[in-house]
Amino acid sequence: MSSWKDKIQKKYGPHEHCIICGRAIPEGKQYCGQDCKDSAISYEKKKKKKSKIQMYFLIGMMVVMFIVMFLMGGG
Ligand SMILES: [Zn+2]
Repeated sequence: MSSWKDKIQKKYGPHEHCIICGRAIPEGKQYCGQDCKDSAISYEKKKKKKSKIQMYFLIGMMVVMFIVMFLMGGG
């Protein structure tokens, strides 16, 4: 007698898990369905927005540093 877990493993074979909800999905896929795909896309967008803000912040810092160095050097 094999347990239901063995049966599932045999039935699905090698598989991956949805990166959003962790459900078992066929190999080669990243998401279990459209819902998780959508939330992954919105998550990526949020991440991109955040890195953009960080980039602007860094550029702003560099500009300030440049001005300070210019003022000190020219003083
Ligand atoms: Zn999912």
